[in-house]
Amino acid sequence: PRGTAAATFAARLSYEHVTHSYQDVEAVSDVSLELAPGEIMCLLGPSGCGKTTLLRIAAGLERPQAGRVLLDGEPVTDERRFVPPERRGVGLMFQDYALFPHLTILENVAFGLKGMARQAAATEAHNALRRVGLDAFAEAYPHALSGGEQQRVALARAIVPRPGVLLMDEPFSGLDQRLRDSVRDETLALLKETRSSALLVTHDPVEAMRMADRIALMRRGRLVQLGTPEALYRQPVDADAARFFSDFNELEARVQRGAVMTPLGRFSAPAGLESGAEVLVLIRPQGIRLTAAREGHAGYVTNVRFLGDASLVTLLLEGMEEPVTARMRGAKIPAAGETVSVTVEREHVFVFPQAEAPARS
Ligand code: ATP
Repeated sequence: PRGTAAATFAARLSYEHVTHSYQDVEAVSDVSLELAPGEIMCLLGPSGCGKTTLLRIAAGLERPQAGRVLLDGEPVTDERRFVPPERRGVGLMFQDYALFPHLTILENVAFGLKGMARQAAATEAHNALRRVGLDAFAEAYPHALSGGEQQRVALARAIVPRPGVLLMDEPFSGLDQRLRDSVRDETLALLKETRSSALLVTHDPVEAMRMADRIALMRRGRLVQLGTPEALYRQPVDADAARFFSDFNELEARVQRGAVMTPLGRFSAPAGLESGAEVLVLIRPQGIRLTAAREGHAGYVTNVRFLGDASLVTLLLEGMEEPVTARMRGAKIPAAGETVSVTVEREHVFVFPQAEAPARS
């Protein structure tokens, strides 16, 4: 049945209350997470938040101190049992995807099929290379390929044994911007076409939005929010989660009878906050509308920056010390010195309680 390079199965990967420390650093704290068969999930978060550690635990390169990992419902790490990396049926693709320089492209790809008869392995490797559009390079050596092409060979090598789950750690970070976009799109198409389950580490929100069916947002070893890209953008759980995907205008305010009054309007307060509670109001620049009509709050334009697809307009409003930034498209961009009317679209406004923020690391 291993006749084509199409995946024949995709595994379910589950983390149950996984905790892992290196000496005294708790890198992963009580993470529970499930990757569905065929799903592409991105682990997203700032440097040092535990993404790579979580991936290495699934791969079998780290053994968690608490909790367990299951593949298709079978525990692979618990007190009694630890399945080594090569017996887990997971594929790995790391940032330094180095190919063997002294092996041909075909041999590099077939390397993942050790144990298979030579001829069958070559056929499989050719199929995988065809999938990434590089079969013509089968007899070439890595140095003759561009960075993007080498990356696609690494992808072919990772998918050829048809792993139940593909684990990828910043696989596109070595590529320049333009190449990255195209290799990323091709990888996404290939993962979907082969119905692979993939867990992909990135610190880039744009990449996560573009690749993921669901995003697992992490911070300081913990899972902060899990959901579709749209859910994370539209319903962030806290201010840091929101800031991960957009720039914001930020205002401090206090709750008064369930609402928050600001120089930009009145917004509803989060449930359960008493009058007097301090809140943070986040407003996306693209949620601020500027018109000539006198329907909103008067704003004085101090600066306009043209960005190509949009312009950033800086404004001063009565009652506000800090300027506000609006992001506008279209031709009717006000000029510096004009007075405009400012209104705010609710879907771009988030009000969060002012937590006693723990020190940022
Ligand atoms: P990055 O995006 O920078 O790779 P990450 O989110 O993948 O970061 P991890 O590499 O999982 O984060 O690291 C989580 C924490 O564990 C960090 O504080 C890191 O310094 C620490 N850490 C990681 N590996 C080791 C190790 N082998 N020994 C000691 N500490 C480690």
